[in-house]
Amino acid sequence: MADVLFTNARIFDGSGDLPYTGDVFVQGNRIARVTRTGQGLRSAPVLGATVVDAAGAFLMPGMVEAHTHFSWNDQPSLDAIQRMPPEEHVLWCAQVAERYLDMGWTSCVGAAAAKPRLDVVIRNAIEDGTIVGPRYLAASQEITVPGGLGDTTRPHLPQPEFAFGAIVSGAEEMRRCVRMFVKYGVDSLKINLSGESITGMPGDMSQFTETEIATCVEEAKAWGKRVAAHARSCKSIKLCVKHGIEVIYHASFTDEETLDLLEAHKTEHFIAPGLAWLINTSYHASEWGLTPEVTRKMGYHRELEAALETMKALRRRGVRILPGGDYGFAWTPHGTNAKDLEYFVKMVGMSTMEALLSATAWGAPMMRMGKTLGKVREGYLADLLLIDGDPLADITVLQDKARILAVMKDGEFHRAPPLRSARTMTRWAA
Ligand SMILES: [Zn+2]
Repeated sequence: MADVLFTNARIFDGSGDLPYTGDVFVQGNRIARVTRTGQGLRSAPVLGATVVDAAGAFLMPGMVEAHTHFSWNDQPSLDAIQRMPPEEHVLWCAQVAERYLDMGWTSCVGAAAAKPRLDVVIRNAIEDGTIVGPRYLAASQEITVPGGLGDTTRPHLPQPEFAFGAIVSGAEEMRRCVRMFVKYGVDSLKINLSGESITGMPGDMSQFTETEIATCVEEAKAWGKRVAAHARSCKSIKLCVKHGIEVIYHASFTDEETLDLLEAHKTEHFIAPGLAWLINTSYHASEWGLTPEVTRKMGYHRELEAALETMKALRRRGVRILPGGDYGFAWTPHGTNAKDLEYFVKMVGMSTMEALLSATAWGAPMMRMGKTLGKVREGYLADLLLIDGDPLADITVLQDKARILAVMKDGEFHRAPPLRSARTMTRWAA
């Protein structure tokens, strides 16, 4: 892969500063140089590099999805997701992984897989180049309790093969389960601390004893693994802080004490509310029998209101909120993930700058790559997007694949910009 010089780009560098006109030189998989240009200034041409004239297009860091389920297969229920046979399921995940990259998500944090090894296999295949996809952190299945969120077995068919989640009861079963997933090679353990109304267990209910939770965290940390929790209820959020569960998904129901706790520990946790799930389940799932009347009765409308109030409060308190909305259900199809940024702006009150930072600079530490990812800065990894339009003026341009002119991951184009703007520099005179 030849080195690449982007010229005349409007650079959003992920620092929080307003964009400026400049050139970005990518050498190998790194950003080697960022130069401000304009007003007579131009960067030195680079021999042998492919020059991409951005012609004023918006150049930004690749985006980070904080709550990704490649193995959710755009179906309307946990059962329907889980029952896809393993062979088809692997192919599905591979195809979805590429779709994320297509839409500008160059990094994704796995938030649970529908079968024990799906996430690990896909992560490994991306890393060794067998398939195309974003940087990926692999998750376990959702760990749950008998009868809890993710236990989709039938009373007469209690076999784990029928379960969406990994079902444990008691500390020793939890310990064994964590060790099993560590053996498979996951990066994180996903534990369902609260319910989920669509499955019959309300979101404001909590499952698991504290002993089981403590065992999960203790065992995961002993192996150097992260724990992520499905935590909608107020009680479950507090347990995340108390036990040092780094990733808190949803965090819908809070009281003053919980908000104080999250604020006091804001550098130790990542919050991804998954608003797309709440919004679309509440109002856009009628086709699948979930009319607004039905979902109101289930409690989703009340939860959406609570979640929006929580996110507004957390934003005011300087807690970082990340995009990732449980995409992969019938009414939240994969690839529409940038909707989350629109929700952040329109419903949580973020500025477009904050929304862009949440998808870039704030997501990088969640990938455990805070010093190498999420910014357009010398020495950082070259995960870059070229956008036709200005996301700071209209955040929705990121939802349109046609407006994402180029996607570069690790210094290589997944999608190169339109040909007419690229040429190879063969002479020094530009
Ligand atoms: Zn999820």
